[in-house]
Amino acid sequence: MKITALKSHVLAYELPQELGYSQQYYRRRTAHLVEVTTDTGITGWGECFGPGNVALANRVIVEKVIQPLILNDDPLDRDVIWHKVYNLLRDHGQKGMPIQALSGVDIALWDIAGKVAGLPVHKLIGGAHRQMVKAYGYGMMLKRQSLRDHVARFADEAAAIREMGFAATKMKVGLGPEKDIRLAQAVRRSIGDEFPFMVDANHCYTVSDALYVGRGLQELRPYWFEEPVAPEDLEGYRELRSKLDINIAGGEAEFTRWGWRRLLESRGLDIAQPEVCGLGGISEYLRVLALCHTHFTPVVNHVWGSAVSVAVNLQLLAALPALPGSLFPWEPMLEFDTTHNLFRDDLLTEKLDIQGQVKANGGMVRVPDGPGFGIEPDRDFIRHHALEE
Ligand code: CA
Repeated sequence: MKITALKSHVLAYELPQELGYSQQYYRRRTAHLVEVTTDTGITGWGECFGPGNVALANRVIVEKVIQPLILNDDPLDRDVIWHKVYNLLRDHGQKGMPIQALSGVDIALWDIAGKVAGLPVHKLIGGAHRQMVKAYGYGMMLKRQSLRDHVARFADEAAAIREMGFAATKMKVGLGPEKDIRLAQAVRRSIGDEFPFMVDANHCYTVSDALYVGRGLQELRPYWFEEPVAPEDLEGYRELRSKLDINIAGGEAEFTRWGWRRLLESRGLDIAQPEVCGLGGISEYLRVLALCHTHFTPVVNHVWGSAVSVAVNLQLLAALPALPGSLFPWEPMLEFDTTHNLFRDDLLTEKLDIQGQVKANGGMVRVPDGPGFGIEPDRDFIRHHALEE
């Protein structure tokens, strides 16, 4: 079996409303799908993390840098391919875009392996620890509006996400420490005392501001405080974890087993959030997962992007052992974006319909059991939304 081509599909559309988080506002939604074709007619699909113009740069890496390295290789030799590509790109970037590009390619090779075996990817990894996965809905993005309008909107959105049936919800912060605490108070008031919520700062704070916000959050009992400080600030994470009685989550901006090794050894995380479409694909995710378990750090995958990424993560969450194991074990969750996203809702010929499942099954989502990721992207949809070369 041989690889005959790597093709990047960068999709884009204008959102009906501008959205924001603590680093920027954005109006254009993008997705970067990778299609790997073979001489047997079997095609694999992957996805690269990296929004906006980053996707355009990653497309060049996939098609002009990685493709010539692996054309005619056997797609089933995915670990050999991973190490060949990484070794040749190492001198040019051990983190960031080269690894995001490699991630999408590696993921597509796992889809091919599943289709060749006639098995879902979770069976290739070792089986499903669960057939259904709990989903949490994130929303409550920042907008160009006053604090008062943010407070009212966050309260409404939190209640709406709870009403949709999700098992928990997650809000953005980033207006400033005082205002951010006000936002979290509004969310807690809106959802009641028992419903779990999480707070995502997208690394906008200094350590001292994160401590201040974290102390304000403690009495509201959020389930976790995500990316409070810059991902490079390992000592900052450790300090926050030791001083706050609240779970510290992070890791979506970390890459490969080597980056994760340092992050985990610094003991700054209560919950690890590996991003499979960025950190190096499924091959590397499994090594990072082993490292997380080595350090007794539970994993809740970071999920961002299209229905391909959602389907990939459902396979990984099925195959993720409970840590620690018990009669009533701690369970991972599927991260699900509740904001406007055609690439998540309409990309596949047979829709995942996460929202419908969540509503019908008390926040639970079924793990697809077709070969590979069990999905088929709709080529007309891709053509319609493809960004010009
Ligand atoms: Ca995040």
